[in-house]
Amino acid sequence: MNFLEAKILADGVVKPGNVLKVDSFLNHQIDIRLMKKIGEEIKRRFSDVEFNKVLTIESSGIAIASAVAYVNEIPVVFAKKGQTVNSTDDKYVAKAYSFTHKKYNEIFVSKPYVKPTDKILIVDDFLADGEASAALIDLVKQAHAELVGVGIAIEKGMQPGGAKLRAAGVRLESLAIVESMDAESGFIQFREQES
Ligand code: 5GP
Repeated sequence: MNFLEAKILADGVVKPGNVLKVDSFLNHQIDIRLMKKIGEEIKRRFSDVEFNKVLTIESSGIAIASAVAYVNEIPVVFAKKGQTVNSTDDKYVAKAYSFTHKKYNEIFVSKPYVKPTDKILIVDDFLADGEASAALIDLVKQAHAELVGVGIAIEKGMQPGGAKLRAAGVRLESLAIVESMDAESGFIQFREQES
């Protein structure tokens, strides 16, 4: 069992509706030592490829993406949510269905922050149905930047996001993959991974 799986077992809470609550260390209070370890582990897993920028989506991806960017000493850009009422000339815009809020969000990045010369690593806290990752990949494509891979803290393996990305040939590294979980008993099982 790796350090993140151990932390999830110790402090994660399984909620009805297939939701894993990690508010005590990731989504509300943030355990900075854990963030540093996650940043270092994602750096290690992508040590064979070059990237110069980390891209995530506000708000819960920012802490982890910042940790990855910090240990690599590169910038982090977060896609913003909300109406692009103003002109979209200066922005790349994509649509993502939010698993947690059950609604469509428009997300955007300003064009100067994702350039055709950028080699991008997408980082997020959770991968569930893959909507957020797909929208971020769309932004990278619109910018004609290069997608190096996707680094995730917690993948929920019983939802289709991970399989979709792998089938599309995207290099995906998830530090913890939840295979099954049960709200009533609190049981959480992880997928075996070689590391
Ligand atoms: P996806 O777009 O892959 O369906 O969902 C990814 C996003 O939804 C993540 O950025 C994360 O914020 C949120 N999310 C999905 N499932 C969970 C969950 O079980 N727990 C928490 N805390 N967030 C989740």
